[in-house]
Amino acid sequence: MSEIENVNVEAETTEEKVSRNFIEVEIDKDLAEGVYDTVHTRFPPEPNGYLHIGHAKSILLNYGLSKKYGGKFNMRFDDTNPTKEKIEFVNSQLEDIKWLGADWEDRLFFASDYFPKMYEGAIKLIKKGKAYVSDLTAEEIKEYRGTLTEAGKEDPSANRSIEENLALFEDMKNGKFQDGEKVLRARIDMASPNMNMRDPVIYRVAHMTHHRTGDTWCIYPMYDFAHPIEDAEEGITHSICTLEFEDHRPLYDWVVRELEYERPPRQIEFAKLYLQNVVTGKRYIKKLVEDGIADGWDDPRLVSISALRRRGYTPEAIKMFVELCGVSKAHSIADMAMLEYCIREDLKLKRPRMMAILDPVKLVIDNYPEGQTEMLEAANNLENEELGSRMIPFGKELYIEREDFMIEPPKKYFRLFPGNEVRLMNAYFVKCESYETDENGNVTVVHCTYDPETKSGSGFTGRKVKGTIHWVNASTAVPVEVRLFENIVDEEKGVYNKEDGSINVNPDSKKVVTALVEPDLAKAKAYESFQFVRNGFFCVDYKDSTEGKPVFNRIVSLKSSFTLPK
Ligand code: ATP
Ligand code: MG
Repeated sequence: MSEIENVNVEAETTEEKVSRNFIEVEIDKDLAEGVYDTVHTRFPPEPNGYLHIGHAKSILLNYGLSKKYGGKFNMRFDDTNPTKEKIEFVNSQLEDIKWLGADWEDRLFFASDYFPKMYEGAIKLIKKGKAYVSDLTAEEIKEYRGTLTEAGKEDPSANRSIEENLALFEDMKNGKFQDGEKVLRARIDMASPNMNMRDPVIYRVAHMTHHRTGDTWCIYPMYDFAHPIEDAEEGITHSICTLEFEDHRPLYDWVVRELEYERPPRQIEFAKLYLQNVVTGKRYIKKLVEDGIADGWDDPRLVSISALRRRGYTPEAIKMFVELCGVSKAHSIADMAMLEYCIREDLKLKRPRMMAILDPVKLVIDNYPEGQTEMLEAANNLENEELGSRMIPFGKELYIEREDFMIEPPKKYFRLFPGNEVRLMNAYFVKCESYETDENGNVTVVHCTYDPETKSGSGFTGRKVKGTIHWVNASTAVPVEVRLFENIVDEEKGVYNKEDGSINVNPDSKKVVTALVEPDLAKAKAYESFQFVRNGFFCVDYKDSTEGKPVFNRIVSLKSSFTLPK
């Protein structure tokens, strides 16, 4: 079931009805009231893994808003936690964001560039009596914090003099303390009903090498302190994030207010994008890769942006999907079928429709001249003339799909069976005369006769057939590796094993077949995609293909279980 939650507010303008999501409604209000005179958004990932479809939503939302309002969009790495961050991820994330079409122009920033600003900000707070160095251990801080029903206790260090705090903070910075020995806490309210406001830690000691600042710092700011400063320093107006930060907003506002930013940014939260029965968590993907179940972070069965790209998804399809999901404050789970719908819609008219046989059985045209090959013209896409046509070889021996022939067909089976006539796509009518089987009764050859009068495009109207099947010419067909995917997750069981929290893996999620394809397909290059008639959309794998030997991944079959909501 797909739940599409699209909270759009209808607003009348003089000419047209415009539908606005709730964030746009808030932005309109801010602009009308003069809170801001421009819109400046950002995408702030942590460079600690590969971006996924959920991030795509955030990227396209933030970038889209900047475009819509003629504002600016910043790309900023939130690299304030050196333990998990790597330059490899910085590069892969930039590649993904660029591919999605979000253009940051020259506006690429790193949170680590603001470390000096953040340090100054901390000193400013200390001088205002709004921050203090604490001796408590992480354990003790937790203990002192209280619970949802019980106020916290004052930190014994809370009443240190400003001078002492300044001196200790400087010692923290100068490496006089071990990790965890001292922290800097904001002095807010230990009795606040919002736990985030109970004197949160804003700086910690961590003797770590940062991928950009090296060993310059041994103290690092906490996310809740760093993030509002990053936004404010860049002149962000609307800091859009996901719902789990809603309870952190008072702290965000506190930081920018106490640091006296003139036109502080405003945080607005929306619900994360979730996909039913799909693994997005980095921890789990890492495990799938380590266990050899997934072939890297961009295994085509995953939904990281690089995996979707490798599978053959387009930025346009991802954009369409994100738009269909809408922007909302309410949690909802989208269905993979909707994403698949979007890629089909996007590729339908853009890609040539070629012939490839995934499960071949030989067809011999007994009355076709021996040794003759003729070239037949085939339109590349009947729904889009602009794609032109190509010439395909045709001869006495062909391959067709095994499922397109039956010895004893059920009712309403219009494909080949003894005595029945069908159209060979782009070619002739053929009538099944007989067939051969092996000792197990499996069909090995289907014998037909063809009628030269019925050539496609000849204007033949003599009689009609109900079935059309595709084929490839045996002597020129090229064998290629084709991968057919299913969900890597066992959908019956759900993503996570209830007992040990591991992933319920579908053992049949990758099927490899050798297909026979028309010769033009053997020249296909990495990332090129095609429709294989009746079999789906396929894309050339960039990792495993070699010159003249493409490997195809099925992006999606042609059958859809999703229909667009009215
Ligand atoms: P994950 O743990 O899944 O990688 P994250 O939130 O830790 O996600 P960040 O690098 O911190 O990843 O996220 C960058 C931005 O992307 C944040 O603004 C975050 O709110 C947003 N984001 C992350 N996941 C989703 C999602 N599923 N849907 C929409 N936005 C998301
Ligand atoms: Mg994160």
